[in-house]
Amino acid sequence: MRRSLVAGNWKMHGSRESIADLLQALIKGARDGIDGVDVVVCPPLPYLQMSQQMLAGSVWQLGAQTVHSQPCGAYTGEVAASMLADFSVRYVLVGHSERRQLAHETDAVVAEKFSAVLRHAISPILCLGETLEERESGRAEEVVAMQLNAVLEHSGVSAMANAVIAYEPVWAIGTGRTASAGQAQEMHRFIRELMARRSAKVAGQIRIIYGGSVNAGNARALFAQSDIDGGLVGGASLKADEFLTICKSVS
Ligand code: PEP
Repeated sequence: MRRSLVAGNWKMHGSRESIADLLQALIKGARDGIDGVDVVVCPPLPYLQMSQQMLAGSVWQLGAQTVHSQPCGAYTGEVAASMLADFSVRYVLVGHSERRQLAHETDAVVAEKFSAVLRHAISPILCLGETLEERESGRAEEVVAMQLNAVLEHSGVSAMANAVIAYEPVWAIGTGRTASAGQAQEMHRFIRELMARRSAKVAGQIRIIYGGSVNAGNARALFAQSDIDGGLVGGASLKADEFLTICKSVS
């Protein structure tokens, strides 16, 4: 049985004050129990230390939104996996579509980041997903397979044992237009089948979460699908009550 995971991606939102308020509300709201699900928040990098301190002893685990592939060096503005590990970061988003688009991260770069993260016992959350144009031209599966294979060929299927995959159709991120539960399940099953061609054991164990306009109203139907093991939540994770409802929709 795979344990579900819900992660909140706070992107470049918030201030010291609003992030502290949000963390406090999440900690308080989880006191009556969030069962059977790993819950993660990915605050903006400057608030990692504060988040680490506030979340200590709670059910919430710390994630980061990005990482560099190199261990150290002249990479102005970047952050290494070892630095994230210093702040008890347990998960890192790798290959989020906004990084692929805005920071021009290629499949090869994403694959390098994936293995850099694993060297520090942090679990990469590998984001995969097609654009609207790719879906409408019937290439959604081809694109997702290419993104996944780049990582599998670089790190090998056994590396996936410590990773999470997030299927995030680009057209559903921040648009309010979510994939239907059926559409999402279809792609999740496809991803699991791709993994199974290399290792049935890893395919059975790996968590594949869905992201793209998840909210309190659609989470339960999405999470009820057999190959959907939780969610990666953007906008709705900035509202404590809604995010808690989403997390509890899993259990
Ligand atoms: C995301 O940031 O990965 C995301 C899925 O955002 P939203 O939930 O706002 O669509």
